[in-house]
Amino acid sequence: MAMRNKIRIKCPKCLNPYDVEQWSAVNGDKNPQQKLKILNDTLFSASCPKCAKENRLGYPLLYSDPKQNIMIWLVFDDEEVRHITDYYKKSKTEISEDSDDVDPQCRQRIVRDSDRLREKIMIFDSGFDDKIIEIAKLAYAQSAQRKLPNDKIAAAFFSNENAENRIEMFTESGSAFVSKFSRDIYDQLEDKYGGKASYAEDRVYLIDDVWALNLLRSF
Ligand SMILES: [Zn+2]
Repeated sequence: MAMRNKIRIKCPKCLNPYDVEQWSAVNGDKNPQQKLKILNDTLFSASCPKCAKENRLGYPLLYSDPKQNIMIWLVFDDEEVRHITDYYKKSKTEISEDSDDVDPQCRQRIVRDSDRLREKIMIFDSGFDDKIIEIAKLAYAQSAQRKLPNDKIAAAFFSNENAENRIEMFTESGSAFVSKFSRDIYDQLEDKYGGKASYAEDRVYLIDDVWALNLLRSF
């Protein structure tokens, strides 16, 4: 499988056609440069050589890191999400235990945009469980929301900048703020929710705020 392809795109501003590189798979261990580009948000953009406009590229990609035993699919198409989920569900029951195809310990995730891919990589690189982080983000957002009577938290992201773990929050009106992420809170949530039956159910791929809300509702 070719890991990268040249694709011709047309600049939406000046209509100049130009070639961009697209990666279908990035191995965090073997392609550290591309991994860095995901983390600094440059893998999914390309500036037009004619008018210099920075154009965003949205394309699917499989990120893996065999050392950490993770696979993260960046998928835009709903049909493709179903396809991947079905494949793994099927392989779980049909492929024998000793098959190399699916490692039961491998953490497989699906993300729907490049910001979430970046976030997942930072979570796993920081040694955290993304399920606990999703629950923690809800707690951070809830407590920040109480101080914002006239605005609404629209999104929260885990990030690791200069070796500091943070929760970044963005409001509907466009404000952004950052909280330092507390290891104590993580440990408390892990004690409370880690290893619960409903938590360890079938491999789940979309670990996000909706997943965390559903889990909390079930308690
Ligand atoms: Zn252009």
